Amino acid sequence: MELELTEEELAFRDEVRQLLIEELTDEIKAATAKTTTVFADKDVAIAWQQILHKRGWAGVSWPKEFGGTGWSSNQRYIFNQECIKAGAPGMIPLGLRMLAPVIFRYGTKEQQDYYLPKILSGEHYWCQGYSEPGSGSDLASLKTKAEKDGDDYIVNGTKIWTTHAQFSDHIFCLVRTDPDSKPQIGISFLLIEMDTPGITVEPIITMAGDHEVNQVFFDNVRVPVTNRVGPENEGWSVAKYLLEFERGGGTAATGLQLGMQELKLLLDELPEEHELRKRTMAIDIEIAALSQMETDLQTRVANGMNIGSGSSLMKNMVSGLGQLISTTRLEAIGYYGLPHNNLLWFQGEDGVGTEETQTAAATYMNNRASSVFGGSKEVQKNIIAKTVLGL
Ligand SMILES: Cc1cc2nc3c(=O)[nH]c(=O)nc-3n(C[C@H](O)[C@H](O)[C@H](O)COP(=O)(O)OP(=O)(O)OC[C@H]3O[C@@H](n4cnc5c(N)ncnc54)[C@H](O)[C@@H]3O)c2cc1C
Repeated sequence: MELELTEEELAFRDEVRQLLIEELTDEIKAATAKTTTVFADKDVAIAWQQILHKRGWAGVSWPKEFGGTGWSSNQRYIFNQECIKAGAPGMIPLGLRMLAPVIFRYGTKEQQDYYLPKILSGEHYWCQGYSEPGSGSDLASLKTKAEKDGDDYIVNGTKIWTTHAQFSDHIFCLVRTDPDSKPQIGISFLLIEMDTPGITVEPIITMAGDHEVNQVFFDNVRVPVTNRVGPENEGWSVAKYLLEFERGGGTAATGLQLGMQELKLLLDELPEEHELRKRTMAIDIEIAALSQMETDLQTRVANGMNIGSGSSLMKNMVSGLGQLISTTRLEAIGYYGLPHNNLLWFQGEDGVGTEETQTAAATYMNNRASSVFGGSKEVQKNIIAKTVLGL
């Protein structure tokens, strides 16, 4: 399903296509095609962000006053869709799409002037310190504490599943500043430099063999009070505001359709009545439904309407379909997709089969996480049950 575009929007789409032809290099495209993790490698994503930054297009959803494009929601949709179709890497959302809106809304003038240009240029690379062991879905139970000591907080505790912490120079963190009040009250939002003494990052190697997530430890880490965003003990409102941007997206159907094209090539030689080919037909129908829903939601956003629990519905549909495609791909490849093959590829050695077969197992395993991060499938269903069904 396609959005109905005006003459100006069609001209804009041509402009985006032209930029992609001229600036998206073969190296970036090849590296993106090999990505098996949620985010592209830092170097690849930043290389692309810097190309866009030169054009003034890195702040896709940023207002003009902060150096962004000031694009309409339809322009952003067109841009994101064209980038996916052309094989560009997704830009890392942690700074650009998650922290930045928080700084627009809650940051002081000093914080806006200091952090925003560095997020836009890629000079600062951020990670998200929300989850803790025992505090994921039930985030408000978090225990990492920050105690005032003069002009500083002293932070102690740990964060877990911190994506790309090993590459990051900054982390935005939820910390408990008042241990005596109710869980949601007494939390504050802090910006912390990763090279501050007392911070250590321990890798977590996933079953896919990749190093994408980490555990971060804070041992008497001194953080200036001026690094707090928003009022003390009101970080829960800041945190929730940021989460509105975490699911974001809205152009996932395009990426899933590309995944299906690749899958169908693999299944080409099987008879039409083969179970895997029948399954692709069912997936196609679901993607068409998702695409229709994205278009509808996009129209609502463009008309200034709230999409409510639509993002929860989309999150579950997108993660479910992504998992189904990667499962079918692995089944189609059979023993060529053995994890061992994937490990060889990681070590830079030749595996069995084509490059395509060598990433199948890692993609399949990494994809299992998509129904957990950004709010688990069950938690999204709870939201839908409450807001749509009134349960
Ligand atoms: C790949 C990956 C990257 C991540 N990156 C980051 C990151 O960069 N920064 C960060 O802060 N966090 C990150 N996370 C953490 C992520 O947000 C949490 O994993 C998620 O919120 C779930 O929390 P949990 O793992 O503690 O599981 P739990 O909350 O313990 O949940 C365990 C199971 O119980 C279910 N469950 C929990 N509560 C309910 C309920 N009320 N009703 C029904 N079912 C329920 C869940 O759906 C799940 O199946 C990442 C996670 C993954 C997997």
